[in-house]
Amino acid sequence: MKRTRVVEALDAKMIGEKIKLCGWVRTRRDSKGGFSFFELNDGSSMKSVQVLAPAELSNYESELLKASIGSSIEVHGEVVESPGKGQATEVKATEIRVLGYADPATFPLQKKGTSFEYLRTIAHLRPRTNTFGAVARVRNEICKSIHNFFQSRGFIYVHSPIITASDCEGAGQMFHVTTLDLLKIPTKNGEGAQEVDYEQDFFGKATSLTVSGQLEAEVYATALSDVYTFGPTFRAENSNTSRHLAEFWMVEPEMAFCDLEGNMDCAEAFLKTIFTDVMNNCAEDMAFFNERIDKTVLETLTGIVNSKFERLSYTEAVDVLKKSGATFEFPVEWGIDLQSEHERYLTEQVYKKPVILYDYPKDIKAFYMRMNEDGKTVRAMDVLVPKVGEIIGGSQREERLEKLEQRMIDCGLPPEEYWWYLDLRRFGTVPHAGFGLGLERTVQFVTGMGNIRDVIPFPRVPKSAEF
Ligand code: ATP
Ligand code: MN
Repeated sequence: MKRTRVVEALDAKMIGEKIKLCGWVRTRRDSKGGFSFFELNDGSSMKSVQVLAPAELSNYESELLKASIGSSIEVHGEVVESPGKGQATEVKATEIRVLGYADPATFPLQKKGTSFEYLRTIAHLRPRTNTFGAVARVRNEICKSIHNFFQSRGFIYVHSPIITASDCEGAGQMFHVTTLDLLKIPTKNGEGAQEVDYEQDFFGKATSLTVSGQLEAEVYATALSDVYTFGPTFRAENSNTSRHLAEFWMVEPEMAFCDLEGNMDCAEAFLKTIFTDVMNNCAEDMAFFNERIDKTVLETLTGIVNSKFERLSYTEAVDVLKKSGATFEFPVEWGIDLQSEHERYLTEQVYKKPVILYDYPKDIKAFYMRMNEDGKTVRAMDVLVPKVGEIIGGSQREERLEKLEQRMIDCGLPPEEYWWYLDLRRFGTVPHAGFGLGLERTVQFVTGMGNIRDVIPFPRVPKSAEF
C-alpha cells in the first residue's frame, strides 16, 4: 500500500479513505477510556495528525504503550472527521506497527521547550522539532523560488567550480586545498625567503575553496548573456557573528548588456518574488515564525513586497548618518566600510524598508567593479534589509581592459594570473553586471531566526565542524 503523507491525511477531502501513514511520534496520550492518541509527524507539514489507537489492537499493551516521543510507527487505518478543535481529520487505526522505539530515558528531545543553543549540539535530531522542520521547508521553498525566478526569465544555470586558483574578492580569507603532508611541506627559496613549493601539490599550484562563483559566471554571461550560479561558498573569516558562516550558499546572477540600474531592478524584483512565494506556499510555517520567533516578520515581508526600495548613493547615506545625530560605536566618515549598526540604522530607523546603496568608495570594494568618472567611487551596490543588514552585494563590472588592469595592479593582484578573466575584455567586451545573494541571510530574514547557525542544516563556524 502506498504511503500517504501526514499533510494529505489532514485534508478533509480524505475522510472515508483507508490509508497507510508513517512517521515519528510527537506525543502519546493514554485515555482512561482504554485507548491512546498519537500525534504523528512526518515532516510534510508543521501540523501532526492525530491517530486514535483503540485498546483492541493486538499489540496495544505489549508494544504501543511503549511507543513514546521519538518512536517511529506505521499506521493503517481510516481517515475520519475529527471531533476535536483545530483539525479537520484524524486517523482511526486498525493496525499499528512500531518501526523503532526511542527510549524516553535517553531521547534528547522531550516535550519541554529546548534552547537553540542546545539544539545545535544535537544537529542530527533538531530537524525533528517544529522550528527546524519549518526552517527546512522554508529554505527549500526559497531555493525553488530562486530557480523559478531565473529560469522563467531565460537565465542559464551554470556550475562554477568549488576548488579554485583565483581569489575573487582579493580578500585572502580562503581555505587552502592541498594534499601536501603538513608535517613535510616541500619548500623552495623565493625572494629572500622560503616558500611552499606548490608545484609538488596536487594541482601543481596553490588552490583554495571558492569564495564566489562570480568570475566564472562572467565567463558564461559573456557568451550566454544571462546566467546564474547557485552553490556553496567558503570564507575563512574568523568572525563569530550571528550573520557569518564559514560555509554558506550563494546565488549569483550575472547579466551581459546590463548596467547598475538594471542590476538593482533585478535584485529588487528577485527579493520580492522570493518573499511572495514563501508567504504563498509556506503559509503555515510562516504563521509559526510570526507567532513564535518574530511577531513582525509577516508584516515586514508584506510591506516590502508592496513598497519600492529606497535607493541612494553611499555618499548620500554617509550624509544622512552624520546628520542623524545618532551615536554609533564606529563613527561615520566618508570612506569607511559601513558597519552593521549603520546599515540597520538606515533600514530600520530612517527608511523603514530595504535600502539599496550604490557608488561606494573604490578602496573598500573589489577590483572588478566599474570605476566611476570621479575616479573615487565604483559602481557597487549593496541591498540592506532591517535586522540582517547586507543581504545582497553586487556591482557593474569593469569592462574596459586598461582600467581593469590598472585596478588589479593597484590592488596588488598580478594581471598575468587573471589572463583568462582579462581575455573577456580583450575579445568582444560588453557592459555587464551581477550580484550575490546569501541564501542563509535570506532564510534568516524571512523566518526571523536570530542566528545564522540555525538556518543551515550543519553550520560551519570557527572551532566547530561537528556533524
Ligand atoms: P559582510 O560585510 O556582511 O561580511 P560581504 O561584503 O563580505 O558581507 P559579499 O562578498 O558581497 O559579502 O557576498 C555577497 C553576499 O553573501 C552577502 O550580501 C551576504 O548575503 C552573503 N555573505 C557574505 N559573507 C557571508 C558569510 N560569511 N556567511 C553567510 N553569508 C555571507
Ligand atoms: Mn564578509
